[in-house]
Amino acid sequence: MLANYGYKNGSGDYFITIDTDKCDGCGNCVPACPFGVLEVGEDENDPFREEPVAKVSEFHRKKIKYSCAPCKPMKKRKPLPCMNVCSPGAIAHSW
Ligand code: SF4
Ligand code: SF4
Repeated sequence: MLANYGYKNGSGDYFITIDTDKCDGCGNCVPACPFGVLEVGEDENDPFREEPVAKVSEFHRKKIKYSCAPCKPMKKRKPLPCMNVCSPGAIAHSW
């Protein structure tokens, strides 16, 4: 399933989406993110899932636009660090 973390406000939609069917819980995205936005743990949407899954940490969910802002200028030049290390392609950003 698609797990969306973030919010929308008057300036736009700010969501990181984790495709939990693609995410294998490898954890590569956690150290790749320079701002500690991502973590790997229990699937909050599927209590029966045994493997860990990536998610946005509670701390960053309501300020994701600002948490990711230092990375975003890089998007035009190269892939975002979190997406770059995710070989299954489980991470997407709405903005
Ligand atoms: S790098 Fe991709 S597959 Fe690995 S934990 Fe992060 S989101 Fe999941
Ligand atoms: S865009 Fe940058 S700050 Fe945001 S989750 Fe990805 S690596 Fe972390």
